[in-house]
Amino acid sequence: MIEIINTLQDFKNKRERLSGSIGLVPTMGNLHEGHLSLLKESLKENDQTILTIFVNPKQFLQGEDLDKYPRTFEQDIEKIKSCMHEDDHVIVFHPTNDHEIYGTSFNTTIKVESMNNVLCAKFRPGHFDGVTTVVYRIFSLCRPTISYFGQKDYQQYQIIKKMRDDLLLETKLKMMPITRDENGLALSSRNRYLDHDQREEAQILPQTLKEIESILKRGKVEDALSKAIEIKSKYSAWQYLEILDSKNLEPLSDTTKEVVIAGAFIVGSTRLIDNRLVLLNHAE
Ligand code: AMP
Repeated sequence: MIEIINTLQDFKNKRERLSGSIGLVPTMGNLHEGHLSLLKESLKENDQTILTIFVNPKQFLQGEDLDKYPRTFEQDIEKIKSCMHEDDHVIVFHPTNDHEIYGTSFNTTIKVESMNNVLCAKFRPGHFDGVTTVVYRIFSLCRPTISYFGQKDYQQYQIIKKMRDDLLLETKLKMMPITRDENGLALSSRNRYLDHDQREEAQILPQTLKEIESILKRGKVEDALSKAIEIKSKYSAWQYLEILDSKNLEPLSDTTKEVVIAGAFIVGSTRLIDNRLVLLNHAE
């Protein structure tokens, strides 16, 4: 069964009547296989799943693509249905306007201080505060047992985890691997902005991360770090290309066990992000 709810009050009423385990999949819609992998995992693991579709203005900076962000509600519903089995129960919360998620007098910002001035945060100041604010609100409304997020947005996942821990929120968190297309490009709603040639150029992003991964897997941490610096300096399309401790997004140290290789790459006017996680157990 699929139920679609558009207002805050209807959603609150619905939530009061739910029992059993609840999986939460927060999205901005324009669903693709990446989103659907989160949904499928939640359907497998929970009595019911809440999938939210809300293009959150608070996480867009001025001049970003808030207005042109793809809104494809009808197709999204069809995709959700295609993942469901007979006994599955999905509640789609699709607020029709900002008040239907924030209410009318919302005046709070949730800000995680750590990890909030590196990688994407450096280039999108305030973005993650918009994310944590809406995710906190959605957690409060949904009171989920498990919430599902994608590794695609690794920094976002780590910041949300820190918020969950610091604010003693009850939900468990689960991070799902990155879903990619046949050329290795991470699926993203923004890929639809790319034309044929730009799609080809975009492959530099996953290919570079893979190349650095293979250097790291051979135990050559110093080589990987200098390779990243070299590649980034040669091509202005790189907004960042960094190798950081996956636990805290800080530079590598003697205690680093796992690294994240993270890149942001601009193709035309589209900004793409991707990352790979690598265990350092082969390191010298
Ligand atoms: P968005 O609609 O872009 O806010 O994404 C909603 C959720 O889907 C986030 O947790 C993303 O990390 C996740 N997601 C987006 N793209 C992918 C992907 N290619 N693979 C796995 N998860 C993804």
